[in-house]
Amino acid sequence: MRDELTTKIRQIAAQLHIANYALALTGAGVSTESGIPDFRSPNNGLWAQFDPMEVASIQGFRNNPARFYEFWKLRFGVLNQAQPNITHRFLVELEIQGKLKGIVTQNIDNLHKRAGSKTVYDVHGNYARGLCVDCEKEYPIETVFSKIDSQRIPLCDHCHGFLKPDVVLFGELLPLSFEEAVHQASHCDFMLVLGTSLEVHPVADLVPQAKSAGAKVAIINRDPTPYDWIADIVIHSQLGSTMERLREEI
Ligand code: ZN
Repeated sequence: MRDELTTKIRQIAAQLHIANYALALTGAGVSTESGIPDFRSPNNGLWAQFDPMEVASIQGFRNNPARFYEFWKLRFGVLNQAQPNITHRFLVELEIQGKLKGIVTQNIDNLHKRAGSKTVYDVHGNYARGLCVDCEKEYPIETVFSKIDSQRIPLCDHCHGFLKPDVVLFGELLPLSFEEAVHQASHCDFMLVLGTSLEVHPVADLVPQAKSAGAKVAIINRDPTPYDWIADIVIHSQLGSTMERLREEI
């Protein structure tokens, strides 16, 4: 088994060497190793105490913003304390070395940018921004935090609309960065898929799009995904330790 894993890791390293346009696609499995729980996992910490449809849907936000912010105040605490891990740092190194052109991420935690990655497509938004739902004025998240402390439900200075973290909630459309991600996926020649179950659409569709445009695809995830069958290389294991070994091969 160990030899088979070594072979696959070397194949990924070789693809990163020969690719002209490598793209990473990252998901919740990257962030769990920074202590950010995924609501789909068992024993999911904060999520166990809340109904995702109340605190992670646009309907829930509109129906009960106080309940929504009860959760997000706690979640902001978790996100603010999280630190980038080996996977984030290794992707920064690959970008600096010219081996990676960009990262499409489903994570809203801003950790790729905090680690130092420059080209990041936040296709599910980024919690480090706040947005008025009425006039769309943008606020730095620190302003939203201080408003939560003083007002409980943060309001827009300009129009008194509710402020919302600039993250895609259930029931909302994806931001423009998703269009850019589609463009990237159809132009890459290697897609490295990390820590995502590929169950959330339309982002998961980027994998078959890249494949049908001629890219090689490698998937590293703890559990099997619906697109393992189209991938050229599949590794089911803990992400961090696998990335350590890949880093040694590069
Ligand atoms: Zn406003």
